Amino acid sequence: MPGHLEAIVSLQKTLTELNAADERLNSIPDWMLELHEEHAGRKAEIDTVETEGNAAEHERREAEAALADAQEKQKRYQEQLGQVSTQREYGALLKEIDTTKNQISSNEKAALDATERKEEADRKLSEFREAFQDLDTRYGTELKKWESEKPAVAATVKQLSRRAEELRGAVPRNILVLFDRIFERGGGEALARVRKMQVVRGNPMFHCEVCSYNVRPQVLVEIRDQESLNQCDSCKRILYWEDEE
Ligand SMILES: [Zn+2]
Repeated sequence: MPGHLEAIVSLQKTLTELNAADERLNSIPDWMLELHEEHAGRKAEIDTVETEGNAAEHERREAEAALADAQEKQKRYQEQLGQVSTQREYGALLKEIDTTKNQISSNEKAALDATERKEEADRKLSEFREAFQDLDTRYGTELKKWESEKPAVAATVKQLSRRAEELRGAVPRNILVLFDRIFERGGGEALARVRKMQVVRGNPMFHCEVCSYNVRPQVLVEIRDQESLNQCDSCKRILYWEDEE
């Protein structure tokens, strides 16, 4: 396919820059990555302790409610003791009283245990939070700095998108379809540069920079002189030539 190679090369370069700018806009910048990870790690620690504390508090309430129930039952059984008339009823009631006694003691223990865990979680939480303050402030400052840099990056993204659209407008549809397919399959890289590899018996040899497959000299002539679209025989990327300084 003759022609349009230059526009295709410009389109690929623009899309590569666009990808990079988009990535910059939507990810944590390198200069605050370390702080970001530390901040996220500490925050996760705090969240874990908070969750543990809440769970302990919930368990304490449940144990105390069960304890109150058992104590209530115990009281009722004690009152009934004076009203039973047979030995059998008396024995059955004593057995019930025994069971509730066990319930009382196990719920008391559970409530106490949960209270201790809640206290321990609260103690840890205030310790962690205090240690976190300084980090959180530093993180907030860097975040603000990053937010202030974002509009410029967003403007670049917009400008590159517009440029890409312009370039696409100048390329025939069938070529765009081919380009897009290779771009998609090649992980955002539809082109491969042709490199001069070595000279064999006075003749230079060329290869595809991406997959190292040979490129015939005739293909190189077509690319350079006719802006022709040729795909690498192996990786199928569109070949282009760039004069080396
Ligand atoms: Zn190749």
